[in-house]
Amino acid sequence: MSLKGKVALITGGAQGIGRAIGMRLAGEGANVAVADVDVELAQRAAMEMENLKVSAAAFDADVSDSSQVEELVNKTVEKFSMIDILVNNAGITRDDLLIRASEKDWDRVMAVNLKGAFNLTRSVARLMIKQRSGRIVNITSVVGLMGNVGQVCYASSKAGLIGLTKSTAKELAARGITANAVAPGYIQSAMTEGLPQAAKDAFLSQIPLRRAGTPEDVADLVAFLVSDQAGYITGQVIQVDGGLLM
Ligand code: NAD
Repeated sequence: MSLKGKVALITGGAQGIGRAIGMRLAGEGANVAVADVDVELAQRAAMEMENLKVSAAAFDADVSDSSQVEELVNKTVEKFSMIDILVNNAGITRDDLLIRASEKDWDRVMAVNLKGAFNLTRSVARLMIKQRSGRIVNITSVVGLMGNVGQVCYASSKAGLIGLTKSTAKELAARGITANAVAPGYIQSAMTEGLPQAAKDAFLSQIPLRRAGTPEDVADLVAFLVSDQAGYITGQVIQVDGGLLM
């Protein structure tokens, strides 16, 4: 599954799942651009990737801002000459029950989780179309497939990502570009660390494989989907959830 010499742009790559994806792809020989709003953490992550004998760089970018995204893509191309792999991983939660959810929270979650992926995909697709090759992976969530109490904004954004993935896959297939979505279940990361213990226990009790997932569990699937071996897979939503939703 060699990715030697490929260039991967990963949003939200400073920590958690995005960082694990960066490390995994770097381990396969890919050069990595880490984009994040937490640039210090992103720099640390990029340095760790460089220890794997690839080239890596950190970029300060808020994916919800299309001008920052254009600048990010330009800087990535300046540094690495191309982008072969795009992983739309940056995501946030603003959890509350439907009747208490604010318009502000809805707008921010949609702006980061859904518009962010749209901004990146539109910008990077132009390059991939010229190259007549590319791999796009969107990190959605099982919650986008099944809904969840208290996560109306988040679940809606993640369901939207599935529509974005499938439309992208259909539009770009003829150019040799694949687009797939990965739907993690309950994964240990900063995002889930703050959940109340009762919510963590409720998740765990529903997982047939009886454990929370790790960021590396997700990264392994992404590494396959961006490889040459996955060239005949597009428009799919693949769960990494220990059997939580079947
Ligand atoms: P995390 O909070 O550990 O990491 C998210 C990263 O995204 C952070 O580094 C953060 O700084 C960055 N980020 C946030 N807003 C950004 C913005 N506007 N622009 C650029 N970067 C931004 O979370 P994680 O658990 O690693 O989640 C990664 C992805 O996986 C998210 O899309 C999340 O929704 C999804 N996911 C996570 C789980 C889980 O259980 N942890 C489950 C399903 C899906």
